[in-house]
Amino acid sequence: MKKLPSEILAKYEAVIGLEIHVQLSTQSKMFATEAAGLAPGPNRHVSLIAMAHPGALPSINLGGVEKAVRFGMAIHGEIAQTCYFDRKHYFYPDSPKGYQMTQDGKPYCMGGRIEFPMPDGEIRGIDLHHIHIEEDAGKSLHQAGKPYTQVDLNRAGTPLIEIVTLPTLHEPEEAGALMAEVRRLVRYLDVGDGDMEKGNLRCDANISIRPKGVKTLGTRAEIKNVNSINFVIRALKYEFQRQVQLVEAGEEIVQETRTWDAQAGKTFGMRDKENAHDYRYFPEPDLLPIHLSEAWMSARKAELLELPIDRYRRYLEAGLSVNESLALIEQIQLSAYFDQLVEQVDSSKTAANWLLGPVKAFLNQSGQSIEQFPLGVDQLVELITWVKKGQFSRQVAIAQVLPAWVESPSAPLERIAQQLDLLGKPEADEIGKILQEVLDAFPKEANRLKQGEMKLIGFFIGQANKKFKGKADPKAIKTAVMEWAKS
Ligand code: ADP
Ligand code: MG
Repeated sequence: MKKLPSEILAKYEAVIGLEIHVQLSTQSKMFATEAAGLAPGPNRHVSLIAMAHPGALPSINLGGVEKAVRFGMAIHGEIAQTCYFDRKHYFYPDSPKGYQMTQDGKPYCMGGRIEFPMPDGEIRGIDLHHIHIEEDAGKSLHQAGKPYTQVDLNRAGTPLIEIVTLPTLHEPEEAGALMAEVRRLVRYLDVGDGDMEKGNLRCDANISIRPKGVKTLGTRAEIKNVNSINFVIRALKYEFQRQVQLVEAGEEIVQETRTWDAQAGKTFGMRDKENAHDYRYFPEPDLLPIHLSEAWMSARKAELLELPIDRYRRYLEAGLSVNESLALIEQIQLSAYFDQLVEQVDSSKTAANWLLGPVKAFLNQSGQSIEQFPLGVDQLVELITWVKKGQFSRQVAIAQVLPAWVESPSAPLERIAQQLDLLGKPEADEIGKILQEVLDAFPKEANRLKQGEMKLIGFFIGQANKKFKGKADPKAIKTAVMEWAKS
């Protein structure tokens, strides 16, 4: 597809709405007792229910309901005290029942809103239509050259929630940022692992176009099962262009289901979109409705943690940059470590500099997460305090002390410093002596400093530091250099 001129694209507005599937990380499946999650081989997590033997009776997994409700409450949805399941009929070889158990007439959660930061830090939001609980299908495996299809039912019956947004986004990047937020949320709330590569978080991206200024909705295409943030953005950008091109050529957009081919960088038509009446929904007769008591709901409400977006706002208000704040909320444990650190070092900036600088670098290098970081908050505070007191410089702390301490975290900091020969600060007269040596070694620079070229102070501090191998208090050196310059 050739790229359209930007003045043509600028005449149109994209309208985007997502249907986001989140796999819930429960021990067992949604309506059966066999394990959900990783199996040792194909068709190992199956049961008469997964295989749809006649007469097999499903039952509801409360653990799945609890995770679904936790998510719904977190995004400020209205949790129904009573809801029920429906059958949605269609034929898939990997769904032996011939229908999916889902919620159509009375989903467990209505409305709600998800706020999310854009890559540049601006906070935007989207209102949700509803969230419902449903089961996943199995997997069909097609091997090249083989005249048959294999069916693996391990995934059949795994719990999902489907988050259905209103069609109110207008930029592909917003859809990407929303997916990133949902991933953060499911991990924060411990409702799923949010692993997009495995398909445990994926979306159907709906998009239509309309001339700018028009308020009615155009005919949409639905791009199925997109499982990467990057793909969501690319697929929507491609689809926007494709639809504009069609309209500009005087053709009509048909409502259809399309698929994103990352290799080709294009979407392809799969089938005409089914209409709701094709599915012949009706209430599932094998499952009782769910009733949630007031007491149970308030207990769940009380368990809710501060949301990533609220932490993000809090960090910005505390003076951190957009990038620092985004880095901290990427993982709740990192954010929690940071909050504890700030309590003791009294400066958000200092805490962020240490955590997102040397500590994060160590974690990245060793492939560890913050939970595995050998030094507790108290220990990091001790290290920061020693630097503040001038026992050794920040550079020495990062280059020598931190790497040594993470190797033997049970040792007291004193012993680490001793082993590195950092104890026993040079006395003031020794500082004077070494400074004199440095001044003698760079007479021209010394002269310029004497003439008032104060920017040379840094140069002499550096030189003196080298001589002390970082052992001296940088503030003491600075004072000595300044005194000499002014004397
Ligand atoms: P269905 O259940 O048949 O797929 P819905 O009306 O429930 O249809 O919408 C599904 C998703 O499509 C929602 O996320 C909604 O925001 C989005 N959507 C609906 N109409 C449009 C449209 N004209 N353009 C873009 N997205 C749309
Ligand atoms: Mg749909």
